[in-house]
Amino acid sequence: MTPGTVTIIGAGQGGFQAAISLRQNGFEGAITLIGDEPGLPYQRPPLSKVYLQDGKAEALYLRPESFFEAKRIDYLPGTRVEAIDRAAQRLTVLRDGAEKSLPYDHLILATGTRNLRPPIEGIAHACDLRTLTDAQRLREKLDQPARIAVIGGGFIGLEFAAVARKLGHEVAVIEAAPRLMARAVSQRMSDHFADLHRGWGTALHLGQPAVAVEPAGVTLADGTGVTADFVLVAAGVRPNVELAEAAGLAIDNGVKTDARLQTSDPAISALGDCASFPDPRGRGHIRLESVQAATDHARLIAKRLAKGDTDPYGALPWFWSDQGACKLQIAGYATPDAAEEEIAAGIVGRFDERGLAAIETIDNARAHMRARKLIASPEPVTRADLEEIAA
Ligand SMILES: Cc1cc2nc3c(=O)[nH]c(=O)nc-3n(C[C@H](O)[C@H](O)[C@H](O)COP(=O)(O)OP(=O)(O)OC[C@H]3O[C@@H](n4cnc5c(N)ncnc54)[C@H](O)[C@@H]3O)c2cc1C
Repeated sequence: MTPGTVTIIGAGQGGFQAAISLRQNGFEGAITLIGDEPGLPYQRPPLSKVYLQDGKAEALYLRPESFFEAKRIDYLPGTRVEAIDRAAQRLTVLRDGAEKSLPYDHLILATGTRNLRPPIEGIAHACDLRTLTDAQRLREKLDQPARIAVIGGGFIGLEFAAVARKLGHEVAVIEAAPRLMARAVSQRMSDHFADLHRGWGTALHLGQPAVAVEPAGVTLADGTGVTADFVLVAAGVRPNVELAEAAGLAIDNGVKTDARLQTSDPAISALGDCASFPDPRGRGHIRLESVQAATDHARLIAKRLAKGDTDPYGALPWFWSDQGACKLQIAGYATPDAAEEEIAAGIVGRFDERGLAAIETIDNARAHMRARKLIASPEPVTRADLEEIAA
């Protein structure tokens, strides 16, 4: 049955998309979109890329203010949901210091993630890069020549490092794992990007966790001191599941959903970075941190709520990272233990027990699009298919 009121917690990429997709699918009921950040919903990917250079916040906004009125979406910025009362189907929200109670017929959890702060002495002094407010603070710091230490050699730390180097700052990246982006890419891609960053003049400290952040910089486990005027911590994220957990919903490295993105309560769905859903390739529950997953999840939930569509979620994951002038694209999803094979220069295939799981490409949009088609196809992949990608 179509719900009368859909309330969405989290006005990020996925929460916003859910609101818009509900209207696009003909949903006529009330939509409330609640976000604890100020201002209009915005895109995060440019925060570690172009925004650091041009500072154009207007370019990040997903829609102008007039859109919400035109689409009858009650958008509540600067509003935090404090509790979910599942029995009464009501939320306790906090806005401008005042508590309010809001009803829902269907609730969508789109609460995303927050930055992980590893237990490093003095880490409270380090900066984050998760929100527009964080990025605005970093831009101010990038105004003057600086020595910068980045804790974390994942996508966000490396994207930031590339921009900071381009702007002429002295940059060191500290990564506890022996290679860059180890959670997400093959050894070959890690090596390729390590060479690139070193070539741009960034110092890489691999296989050495940071143990202390001090006013003079960062100390590593082996006693090495990395001098820095400021430190960015980009050491991964944690899903925001506390609200769901307190409400008694099932949690499994994220809010646990079924294949239709419904939580253990049929009146509540979850999407995007905070949701843990069955992997269409049958590798248990997975959680993805990407714009594509958040928006595709939102579209699927909107169709279910507006039209009663019961399709399971099966979209192929894809991801990109811009580091300096170099674009890495990944089609599919591979776990860190996946085997790898170079298909052609700048194209790496990753394989698990079910076969081809992901293809990584560098500066090759054509090969990436071909890889997406190939991996999404139900047919078994042959050597000739793989060679075709690079042709
Ligand atoms: C710097 C940066 C660069 C990135 N680059 C890329 C990229 O190149 N490619 C890519 O695919 N992805 C990238 N990502 C990841 C991408 O932005 C996320 O995967 C995507 O935003 C997830 O959408 P979401 O709606 O699940 O969560 P989010 O967009 O994080 O939104 C969640 C929102 O919920 C709010 N919230 C949480 N709890 C509450 C509450 N109790 N009450 C009210 N509001 C609440 C949060 O404050 C937040 O605004 C990047 C992320 C960052 C931070």
